[in-house]
Amino acid sequence: MKTIGLIGGMSWESTIPYYSIINEYIKKKLGGLHSARIVLYSVEFDEIEKCQSSGEWERSGEILADAAHKLELAGAELILICTNTMHKVFRQVQSAVSVPLIHIAEATADELAKERINSVALLGTKYTMTQDFYKQKLIDYGLNVLIPNDDDMEVVNNVIYNELCVGIINDKSRKEFSRIISQLKERGAEAVILGCTEIGLLIHQKDSKLKIFDTTEIHAKAAAIMSLGE
Ligand code: GLU
Repeated sequence: MKTIGLIGGMSWESTIPYYSIINEYIKKKLGGLHSARIVLYSVEFDEIEKCQSSGEWERSGEILADAAHKLELAGAELILICTNTMHKVFRQVQSAVSVPLIHIAEATADELAKERINSVALLGTKYTMTQDFYKQKLIDYGLNVLIPNDDDMEVVNNVIYNELCVGIINDKSRKEFSRIISQLKERGAEAVILGCTEIGLLIHQKDSKLKIFDTTEIHAKAAAIMSLGE
């Protein structure tokens, strides 16, 4: 079994599911007392968020690249950046290590392809929903990507940073997300990507008229599969 390195803490609320999903998968596959080999580097999210909002992506990339390097020294044989947004600096982080990183959007696009989805709604931070670093990956896989209108994008982004990242799970926000997903369905989406690692804490399949593809679930499982060499 390969050792998985997690760059977590973005936010730490969403790093917890990574730990349990990976271990659940290993338990299901190997049974008994088996558990995953994991090294976690949990960053100080306030520092990362300040880099995001001030546009200092290069600086945030240096912080994550340093974390990846330390994970490799600690024995990690594959690494995950446990957030969609910070995949903006994926290449910078990958170039700091010699072990592979699993790209969250590529892992998700692979799952969508298995289900033959063509048009997909994308919910995430404003960076993920509007910038090319993420959407273009999906488009390169032949997907048509739909994002909420400007007002709803604001709602989604605010719920992520002001509620989910600080552990607040709010019923009213859940209803808002359900409404936004329904609207994206009316615009032609066949499924929805929960393209932020905290959204799965708020939205479950029963809350969504579209089939959900939870990036946390997909990314963590992809790591467990790779660690077992499946
Ligand atoms: N975890 C979130 C994501 O998947 C947002 C936090 C961040 O900005 O990294 O994009």
